[in-house]
Amino acid sequence: MLYWTQGGAERTAHRRYLIRKGELPLRIYADNAATTQTSELARRVMVDTMDRYWGNPSSLYSFGQEAAEVLYQARCDVAACLGAKPEEIYFTSGGSEADNQAIVSAAQLGKRKGKNHIITTPIEHHAVLHTVEKLAKEGFEVTYLPMDESGIVKVEDVAAAIRPETALVTVMFANNEIGTVQPIARIGALCREKGVVFHTDAVQAAGHLAIDVEEMNIDMLSLSGHKFHGPRGVGALYVRKKVPLLSFIQGGAQERGRRAGTENLPAIAGMAAALTEACAHIDEHYKYVSSLRDALIDGLSAIPHGALNGARAPRLPGNVNFCFEGIEGESLLLLLDDKGVSASSGSACTSGSLDPSHVLLAIGRPHEVAHGSLRLTLDYTNTMEEVNEIVAAVKEVVDYLRNMSPVWKALEKGERKYVI
Ligand SMILES: *Cc1c(COP(=O)(O)O)cnc(C)c1O
Repeated sequence: MLYWTQGGAERTAHRRYLIRKGELPLRIYADNAATTQTSELARRVMVDTMDRYWGNPSSLYSFGQEAAEVLYQARCDVAACLGAKPEEIYFTSGGSEADNQAIVSAAQLGKRKGKNHIITTPIEHHAVLHTVEKLAKEGFEVTYLPMDESGIVKVEDVAAAIRPETALVTVMFANNEIGTVQPIARIGALCREKGVVFHTDAVQAAGHLAIDVEEMNIDMLSLSGHKFHGPRGVGALYVRKKVPLLSFIQGGAQERGRRAGTENLPAIAGMAAALTEACAHIDEHYKYVSSLRDALIDGLSAIPHGALNGARAPRLPGNVNFCFEGIEGESLLLLLDDKGVSASSGSACTSGSLDPSHVLLAIGRPHEVAHGSLRLTLDYTNTMEEVNEIVAAVKEVVDYLRNMSPVWKALEKGERKYVI
């Protein structure tokens, strides 16, 4: 049964009613790259922090000092998960702010030394891409590393792009759309050898992949609480001790003068708890979630004229991203939602606009195919039963949409050529 012709609120209410009656299955959440459900531990730590440590950590009396201790403990916990020192961690309002601050700071400090060149990839998150584009308008020269269908940067290309005037290399740890994991340790070693500052947006990797900033020669790293079952609106920027950092927000002397504003202590403590929890289970979760991912990829590979986007490995344990020819991603999403499956097409930031994903275009998918993309991101909260249900639902919906698509009919009649 399909209810997708009804309006938004009405549809949601009707669906909830059907779920209660047992006529629709429970919802399956398969969009963990967009956000994750706050863990029970993180929730408890946040409530406890609000109840007991509501003082201002900058205040000298005991209410403040107790809060300052909670803040310091959170800093130690986040640092421990990254192989960093507590004084190398700066709390921010999220991944976007951490990316913005790291890039703008490195660019401005570089400029003071006559360095006006930045190296990045065409598949970065918009928090990185738009910041770099803004700097380009202000006179910085930007090299976008070459990208092929694998979705993985080649270290030789980074080596070839570095010049004496390079102020910063910024390459994401793992991609939020296609899940490909970049050779971060090798890029880090190269940048260290050449004396170039290296930043990585590790928002999708933190809590899911092992990270050691020392071993990987990372100078700056961004992470965000809500991508590993912590709260939203909080993140952290790691900056190696010897690397200077300019403040981005002017005001008080919080975060050692690098990030003004009274600390959001419940969120910071909740994030630290969630990251510690994620890192304690990282191997076990990796094994379990990647087995779900592999089953989902295998199941969806049976659909004709569909293709996995990005190399199969190295890939985030929970990421599955397919293109299906002859259909439109938005319709696919809405129909899947009616079957109880929450998925994504492109990134959350671009859905709502008609432009296909910049990541899919960068890995060489033509416009018309990039429009038919589906991202399913799994987590330890998902099960193999859910994977089987997702496979069945996607098969059914792709069939349904193709049957009413004029583009698909033209492909079948040979009036158009299949791309995949
Ligand atoms: C989600 C995400 C961000 C933005 O983080 P926020 O905390 O939502 O600002 C940045 N980079 C990547 C790769 C992401 O997935």
